[in-house]
Amino acid sequence: MVETLRLFLPEPPTPMSIRALLLALAVQAAPTSDSSVVAATLTARALESRGAYGFLTDLVDHVGSRLSGSEGAEAAVSWAAAQFAALGLEARREAVLVPVWVRGVEEGEVLAGPGRQKQPLALTALGGSPGTPTGGLDAEVIEVASIAELQSRGAAVKGRIVFFNHPMAVADDYGRFGELRNRGPAAAAKLGAAAALVRSLATASIRSPHTGQTRFAEGDVAIPAAAISVEDAQLLHRLLATGPVRVRIVLGCRNLPDAMSSNVVADLRGRERPEEVVLLGAHLDSWDLAVGAQDDGAGVALVLETARLLVGLKQPPRRTVRFVLFMNEENGLRGAKAYALAHGAELAHHVAAMELDSGAGGPVGVSLKAGAGASSLVEPWLSPLVPLGAGVLLTKEASGADLTPLAVAQVALVELVQDHSHYFDVHHSAADTLDKVDPEAFSRASAAVAWLTYALAESPALLPRPPALAAVSPGSTK
Ligand SMILES: [Zn+2]
Repeated sequence: MVETLRLFLPEPPTPMSIRALLLALAVQAAPTSDSSVVAATLTARALESRGAYGFLTDLVDHVGSRLSGSEGAEAAVSWAAAQFAALGLEARREAVLVPVWVRGVEEGEVLAGPGRQKQPLALTALGGSPGTPTGGLDAEVIEVASIAELQSRGAAVKGRIVFFNHPMAVADDYGRFGELRNRGPAAAAKLGAAAALVRSLATASIRSPHTGQTRFAEGDVAIPAAAISVEDAQLLHRLLATGPVRVRIVLGCRNLPDAMSSNVVADLRGRERPEEVVLLGAHLDSWDLAVGAQDDGAGVALVLETARLLVGLKQPPRRTVRFVLFMNEENGLRGAKAYALAHGAELAHHVAAMELDSGAGGPVGVSLKAGAGASSLVEPWLSPLVPLGAGVLLTKEASGADLTPLAVAQVALVELVQDHSHYFDVHHSAADTLDKVDPEAFSRASAAVAWLTYALAESPALLPRPPALAAVSPGSTK
């Protein structure tokens, strides 16, 4: 059962103080080698400075929301380039043509029925949705729990508002129910539906709807589509159990012509093998309802903090570390595709890639997508991660939405897995703000990312590449 009343606040700091953590680290990785000295240095600086939290605060307070094609997104590009420049790294702006979608008026209500007053609905348009006719539209609601159930209802869907309901309760349900938001409205449109409402993909709610992309294939009919809050989904479900329900919605959103934007890319040149690239990425764009502190301001801040920490070492690692802040992960993955296209010739020399797009939670482990023997190569690097809470190799396969176009070149993926138990409380909603970030847990994540990146770029051996794919799918956004 989803929690609907618990106000989200950061977890209390873990009992282990920074001093105790550093002591544990010193025991764990006694400075018997250069790399353990580097691990201790990176960790101490990340925990003591809380630099990642500083970058994040600056981004969300001074740039704000950053939906592709918006003024905020372009301000974020300039901001990111300036941050790299301040670290002494030259940042390139690499062109990306992005979709432009703008939100407008959003209203919804359950119309009065026999023995029943009208009721407002808390809703927000899904990215990519067309608007309703001026003045809105109203229709009878039909509830389904899956796309298969939608198909089975056939002709009953025509002219109706399809309500996609689901019981998302924990973070891992996002993968399970995500297709209702991604593909449900397009499937309803094919059956002649008037509009679609999708229960928010959320693990907690104080009646704020959670947006996200919905996809209509080129040339297909598109219908207005919105997310409704968990509470309003429950209301609709109860009302539908008593008889027919009619809903009216007004959406002023629309798609505009594509616009030029940029990925921001900066290299820390390797001291011995500069042609070999370790890619560390995050996405610069966010949804428009909030400042995207967790999605993906946190990832952007982790990338910048890693850059700052690695630049501060006595010497750069063996290989080049390339920091990539992708544009348009949320509603198109155009930045990811543009990067893979622009750097196609270099991808054979991309020796590992890691994307940070799971919020600001503390680190819990490391996962890989690589060839046979990768685990035994990575295991020796894990000891500095133990006191940070992340010293285990997890069986989950590493992924990253912006890294999916690299699969054709069989680039090995590494993922720092973070605690995401509260990520979907605020994800894609107006509540994705800085106050939900615990600076202590976030500083541990930043220490872990910096060390992993260094280890990937410094280790003499290369991670074996994953096996070739039979077919490459474009992947889904987070
Ligand atoms: Zn994201």
